Amino acid sequence: MTISIIGTGYVGLVTGACLAFKGHRVVCLDIDANKIESLKKGIVPIFEPGLEDLVKSGVESGLLSFTTDKASALDSQVVFLCVGTPAKEDGSADLAYVFQAVDDIAPYLSDQSVVVSKSTVPVGTGEEISRKLKVTRGYSSSCHPCESRDPAIFVASNPEFLREGKAVDDFLNPDRIVIGADEPDIFTILKEVYKDFSCPILETSIKSAEMIKYAANAFLATKISFINEIANICEGVGADVQEVSKGMGLDSRIGQAFLNSGIGYGGSCFPKDVRALDQIAGMNGYDFKLLKAVIDVNADQRWRFYKKIADGLGDLSGKRIAILGLAFKAGTDDIRESIGIDYARRLIEDGVKVVVHDTYASGNARALLSGVEFAESIANAVKGSDAVIITTDAQEYKSSDWKELGELMCQKVIFDGRNVLVVNNLESLGFKYIRVGG
Ligand code: NAD
Repeated sequence: MTISIIGTGYVGLVTGACLAFKGHRVVCLDIDANKIESLKKGIVPIFEPGLEDLVKSGVESGLLSFTTDKASALDSQVVFLCVGTPAKEDGSADLAYVFQAVDDIAPYLSDQSVVVSKSTVPVGTGEEISRKLKVTRGYSSSCHPCESRDPAIFVASNPEFLREGKAVDDFLNPDRIVIGADEPDIFTILKEVYKDFSCPILETSIKSAEMIKYAANAFLATKISFINEIANICEGVGADVQEVSKGMGLDSRIGQAFLNSGIGYGGSCFPKDVRALDQIAGMNGYDFKLLKAVIDVNADQRWRFYKKIADGLGDLSGKRIAILGLAFKAGTDDIRESIGIDYARRLIEDGVKVVVHDTYASGNARALLSGVEFAESIANAVKGSDAVIITTDAQEYKSSDWKELGELMCQKVIFDGRNVLVVNNLESLGFKYIRVGG
């Protein structure tokens, strides 16, 4: 099939590269000319395991191409919208990029194209996209490239559930594919896109598909905030949340996923999607009390742990502290809503000399963080430090030789915001080890 991808970020680039890998002819369009120039040369601007190889092989096979030229990019059967939907000040989803993209592509779409939103959008956005497309194409000016065409363009929703850090694997091996459409033919076309995928394909209305994405993210965020509240109670009663979450997760009705307590969720999706769903509820006259609590718990959790750090170290001023982890989670270079960056800024305000480390995200963080030292290795980060704070569950932190690293530190103190070093038995190596919920 011929496929266009509008927006070549985390979702768009992974979608494009994976669909080319599956044998479709894919053209990726972006307004960011630098990004497209890099991609044409095989340079992938984000870190995502396996993505660079897929992009290179896609380009070499001739099935994957990149452009900023709308006229040449939109002669496809299926057009995926993959632009950002960041949060507005009031928490609602900002649809400016989506609607701008729709306006941009409308004049160039082929007759009978299916425009599919992979962007996470509020319920009703599909209808609005459809309305916009009809207006733009139905009332085009006389010099319009599509003047004589049938204005009918089909709209569908196909929410994306990939996780950054595992995006390629998630895309190629999803738990399910959700297709929201209002016409039987559209399901047939989109099922053809995914004909080589071996997972259930759920057919729904567009509105239900839009809702499924928000409901799924909100539920996962709820699990995180739930276990974090349990962790906070564990600290009061002397129980260990690691043992508690294991005991809960072994119940097949509950499951282990998203039951890791820590300093809360960040990133480009959960914070904005949870707030957007709360907003959608409010706009429809419903007070989503549970979700409000999820948001509050998450906002408190990182600063509750920060208080532990401050209380544990006494006067912070003049101390040297290493932060391990600047991405919002391990295995990505995405620093949107990063707790490591929030901590670095706050520590600087509190008079701390801050050293930071992140194998993939340091490059992006340099643009946001001034007044900190960027260390190229974990050893250089912890050298001479009065404490180490761990903010992501990167495997390299877990597998480090903490006996050796401890000898480089001024004081052997670790604040583990992700409980990743629980198994390393740090107390036996002479560390003061502080974590969440135990
Ligand atoms: P992103 O910011 O990484 O990428 C968006 C891209 O769209 C950018 O490259 C930008 O230049 C481009 N763009 C903006 N306007 C454009 C236009 N008019 N024409 C062409 N390109 C345009 O965003 P992302 O993280 O990939 O997220 C995209 C959507 O997918 C969001 O709605 C997000 O909520 C959703 N989503 C993201 C993830 C994730 O893990 N990042 C997972 C599932 C769903």
